[in-house]
Amino acid sequence: MSILLMNLFINVIIKEKYYILERIIMKRIENIDLKNKKVLIRVDFNVPLDKELNIVDDNRIRESLQTINYCLDNNCKIILMSHLGKIKSEEDLEKNSLKPVAKRLGELLNKEIIFVPEVRGEKVNKAVNNMKEKDIVLLENTRFLDLNGKLESGCDEELSKYFASLADIFINDAFGTCHRAHASNVGVSKYIKESCLGFLVLKEIDNLMPVVNNPKHPFIVIMGGAKISDKIGVIENLIKKADYILVGGGMAYTFLKAKGEEIGKSLLDSESLDFAKEMLEKTNKIILPVDHITSLDMESNNYQIKEKLDSNDYGLDIGPKTIELFKSYLENSKTIFWNGPMGYYENEIYQKGTKEICEIISKLEATSVVGGGDSASCVINLGYKDKFTHVSTGGGASLELLEGKELPGINI
Ligand code: AMP
Repeated sequence: MSILLMNLFINVIIKEKYYILERIIMKRIENIDLKNKKVLIRVDFNVPLDKELNIVDDNRIRESLQTINYCLDNNCKIILMSHLGKIKSEEDLEKNSLKPVAKRLGELLNKEIIFVPEVRGEKVNKAVNNMKEKDIVLLENTRFLDLNGKLESGCDEELSKYFASLADIFINDAFGTCHRAHASNVGVSKYIKESCLGFLVLKEIDNLMPVVNNPKHPFIVIMGGAKISDKIGVIENLIKKADYILVGGGMAYTFLKAKGEEIGKSLLDSESLDFAKEMLEKTNKIILPVDHITSLDMESNNYQIKEKLDSNDYGLDIGPKTIELFKSYLENSKTIFWNGPMGYYENEIYQKGTKEICEIISKLEATSVVGGGDSASCVINLGYKDKFTHVSTGGGASLELLEGKELPGINI
């Protein structure tokens, strides 16, 4: 390739990257004039509910307050929409209504929330037309419209246009769905006058992007949880950037099996065995457990600490030597990204490894980011949320960002 062509090529890459960054900066909520406007905010109110429809964890509602309060301060009329759970049949409707969320949000804001039990139609139009400044309307679960033809998840054009007709400005603040192109997060942005990203999405980007793009070294990745197959893309991308990947949890046993070790009855992700072998051959950055907390029965509280497993053993947590080994890597790190618990943490007996890793990180100066799947709720439940630089609210979305993918919900 000639030098001229090479320069052109490099310039195009830089421009392309700059363009992406510029778009993100331009679309920040602080750069948009919201005064007295009617705003439609896509929030993530996908909260866990118990059988009596009580909210088990309101973290996601609390996380949306910054953007909502900012719009209230700007005298906006605020229309909120979100999904909740998956809607596959009529029976799913009642147990996935956003009505309990309206009540909780009202308590948190100390303000009446006008809940409309529909996603579109007469009742919505009437409620929106009657709004005064600082009124908040919450629409019913957008996925209710998935029942007849997947209108929401299929990014239906008519529905996207309808959402766009409700307001002047669209704000996407639902990071958890940014990896999906649905009518309520991406479709609507194509037809409304102006769109931007809310504070929660911006906080996620501001904390996750530096981990992918320019982590300070030593950069240590901790991976755990059940399966490798869901996380192959993340491992492939982060192995290029990290100094070491510490692997614990059920996932470690597939790597140990790939090394030819006995793993007994521990979790095995057989479809990822070849990938694990390939990774171990290709790099020496992967650090595996050297001892385990084992049991003969997953639900039993009788456990042993072992360096080598027998054929009847379940490996359910990392052992004390592994905790020390992982600590020796973490102590000097400048950046840490963590996904997936170190063991079967739902049982208190097998929680120690995960808790100890939280404890070690809590004492470090390093930038520490937790994201994906169960990891956030695990760290929050153990009481360490405030000890990390950032705990991501997005499961799939944070993992896709760490895979290096562009998320459609951000590029609006
Ligand atoms: P993931 O969604 O892939 O992050 O996986 C989280 C799940 O992995 C949790 O339910 C953990 O209990 C489970 N897990 C982690 N380590 C183990 C293990 N050693 N044995 C069984 N389950 C595990």
